[in-house]
Amino acid sequence: TLDVAWAVRWMRDTATMIVSARDELTELDRQIGDGDHGENLNRGFQAVVAKLDGLEAEPAQIGDVLKLVATTLMSSVGGASGPLYGTAFLRAAKVTGLAELDSSAVVALLEGALEGITARGKAAPGEKTMVDAWQPAVDAAVAAADSGADPVGVLEAALAAAEAGALATVPLLATKGRASYLGERSIGHQDPGATSTVVILRAAVAAAT
Ligand code: ADP
Ligand code: MG
Ligand code: MG
Repeated sequence: TLDVAWAVRWMRDTATMIVSARDELTELDRQIGDGDHGENLNRGFQAVVAKLDGLEAEPAQIGDVLKLVATTLMSSVGGASGPLYGTAFLRAAKVTGLAELDSSAVVALLEGALEGITARGKAAPGEKTMVDAWQPAVDAAVAAADSGADPVGVLEAALAAAEAGALATVPLLATKGRASYLGERSIGHQDPGATSTVVILRAAVAAAT
């Protein structure tokens, strides 16, 4: 069940998986950015874990967890990805008030995240950013929910689409963010933010199964 305990596990699992992915994310960001994406996110999610550990009581609502993540990432990650993921989790927190997410609430959470990222970063699909993982994830989640998938099935569909989307950033020309400074030389590398999006969604599935 996708309840508040799941949301807490999701964030703790993300922190653990970011530790494992840190070097890969940093290497990808070294190729088309400034080589700090792994460290930025590791700092952010370790701060999230510290905040969760320091709570006197378990969060009451899923939205409380997501808002804690949002404010923590905004104040600790820095770079482009801090405000982008911060706004993503803030908008995802619109599912607050539900004790448990059904399939349409999972869609709403993911749509909220994508809305936050596009509101903040103004990137469209195809610009070689994290949007190229989130947009197909949302599209796949909508399709899965429409065809009757259960909430975990919706998350799994989103993860599979994000993985494909991240791989599909390789041939793209970056036109947003630091990678756009490279122009044509950004072609041939996988976008770090699309790759970290996959890690976050993988943790969402892992925490649920
Ligand atoms: P910085 O580029 O400031 O060092 P990070 O390395 O933490 O920040 O994050 C880089 C990632 O941020 C990119 O790989 C890309 O996915 C994402 N990104 C950058 N600009 C945008 C944007 N305008 N919209 C969406 N995502 C973006
Ligand atoms: Mg960077
Ligand atoms: Mg940076």
